[in-house]
Amino acid sequence: MRRIFPGSITTYSQFGHLKVPKSLNNVCPVCKEKVEFVLKSTYQSSKHGLMTESACPSCKKSIPFIILTKENDTHPDVYIYDPHRSTDALSQIEHIPGMPEELIRAYKSAVSVYLSKENLATAVLAKRVLENVLKNFLADKANGQPLDKQLELLPEHINLVKSVTSLSPLMASDKELHRMLELEAEMDDEMAELVMNLLEDLIQYLFVLPGKIEMTREQIEKKLI
Ligand SMILES: [Zn+2]
Repeated sequence: MRRIFPGSITTYSQFGHLKVPKSLNNVCPVCKEKVEFVLKSTYQSSKHGLMTESACPSCKKSIPFIILTKENDTHPDVYIYDPHRSTDALSQIEHIPGMPEELIRAYKSAVSVYLSKENLATAVLAKRVLENVLKNFLADKANGQPLDKQLELLPEHINLVKSVTSLSPLMASDKELHRMLELEAEMDDEMAELVMNLLEDLIQYLFVLPGKIEMTREQIEKKLI
């Protein structure tokens, strides 16, 4: 799911005090064209939200939308179903360039046996996923090494700061983005959305994900006491 920011919403239908989006400009998750989606929604005040669909004018595919209403808030939260931007790894894994096939297969199998509550198979496949992740970065240095040693070696073979340092040239003072951020140039809707996506990705990478890994590690440690 990807949040639709109010700036992308072009028209609303009014239901009492509530404004429900009627049309919005956004990038189609299927064909990647920037199009205008027209939402058909019948709002019922007893419900907390609604699911609706809209056909992309470009590729004609039907795209699901979710509209969540909040009490005392005139603007509901609007989300588009976009598997590329979804936060669960299973939806994303196939869309990330360069993801190793073997890792995708191993992770999918692990999720599948976990959902069937087969804990023994989950353990076997969880180990395979970990090995695959590590092998992806360590290559033959992973051979014959136990998992803890491989994890110790990992930081030498993975460039965790590249995602951040690669942004530096974008912000250079002679670049258009710098001028936009200094209000010397105007941002269009598409650029505003891309900048918001970048903020979300950076916050996820620098704060949310490290925090989540740390919390899960603590939970596992507590459980092992
Ligand atoms: Zn489309």
